[in-house]
Amino acid sequence: MSRRFNFCAGPAALPEAVLSQAQQDLLDWQGRGLSVMEMSHRSDEMVGIANAAEADLRELLGISDDYAVLFVQGGASSQFSAVPLNLCAQGDVVDYVNTGQWSKKAIKEAKRFAQVNVVASSEDSNFSTIPAFDSWQLSDNAKYLHYTPNETIGGVEFFWTPDSNAPLVADMSSTILSRPIDVNKFGVIYAGAQKNIGPAGLTIVIVRKELMGQSRDITPTMLDYQTAADNDSMYNTPPTFSWYLAGLVFKWLKEQGGLTAMETLNRRKADKLYGYIDDSGFYSNPVEKPSRSLMNVPFVLADSSLDKTFLSGADEAGLLNLKGHRSVGGMRASIYNAVPEAAVDALIDYMKDFAQRHG
Ligand code: PMP
Repeated sequence: MSRRFNFCAGPAALPEAVLSQAQQDLLDWQGRGLSVMEMSHRSDEMVGIANAAEADLRELLGISDDYAVLFVQGGASSQFSAVPLNLCAQGDVVDYVNTGQWSKKAIKEAKRFAQVNVVASSEDSNFSTIPAFDSWQLSDNAKYLHYTPNETIGGVEFFWTPDSNAPLVADMSSTILSRPIDVNKFGVIYAGAQKNIGPAGLTIVIVRKELMGQSRDITPTMLDYQTAADNDSMYNTPPTFSWYLAGLVFKWLKEQGGLTAMETLNRRKADKLYGYIDDSGFYSNPVEKPSRSLMNVPFVLADSSLDKTFLSGADEAGLLNLKGHRSVGGMRASIYNAVPEAAVDALIDYMKDFAQRHG
């Protein structure tokens, strides 16, 4: 067996140490004679696993008791509806920022449940920028302000937090746990697990407790934050294995030195890759420099007719999943926490070699 370097945008690479631990636990978790997948979610074992995962996540992100942490299903996409269905009534005004494909999806869904005001959009720049905050047309009466701190497809990331009177709601699917954040600035943070948290099937919602309990009569029970909180995210059967695996990832992150250490490493990885792309004269990244994502690095070749050759050669060199999103084409290297620096070095070596042969 030889594991290769995986640049997939999600489901993404997991730490090898975590996979080894899961392998060791698979048939017989801690001498209990069964696997985590076969445990009742209400068993002492699973409740212990669940509580430990929550405690470790709270420690990593510095989440206070003012917030509930929910482990739910349905992906970040379900949160596109859950957010308005929990935080506002049908006619209410809600503010959204449009910085890319995921913002657009969130906006489209919210329009079904509220009156959406798009306060700013970077669509004119083909989502290669973030609109300056002083240009945002915020509503006086918005129930919340929603934004996407990291656009996974466009590779655009906020390195500042919008200042809002309305509760701030953030889709952190592809940036959560990549660096420290101040949770206290947010009303709701949500993230699909399949990038920096664990396997697909789990979604994490961090919600300020005072914002719960205002859902609509029609809000589906499974999307109601209060119901999830009241039942310790076990109103129904939760994705137990994903939850367990996320717990292993959180422990691994703590062993790595937590989010400050991850930030240092992630910045070094990203700086190397963008630095090479900019210097190469062969590859390019369209995003304005201050807003370049630490996690998702899209790039194009000077001659797109070489894309297929680039990708098949990369695959042969042990560099997997570099194809860009189908909506934008080109390449994308996702370099989440579990993608080691050696992967970025190997990618740059391959890119250099390819440019030499085809430039
Ligand atoms: N938001 C962002 C920023 C994403 O990257 C993704 C998935 N790539 C989603 C939402 C949708 O997540 P899910 O597939 O978990 O519904």
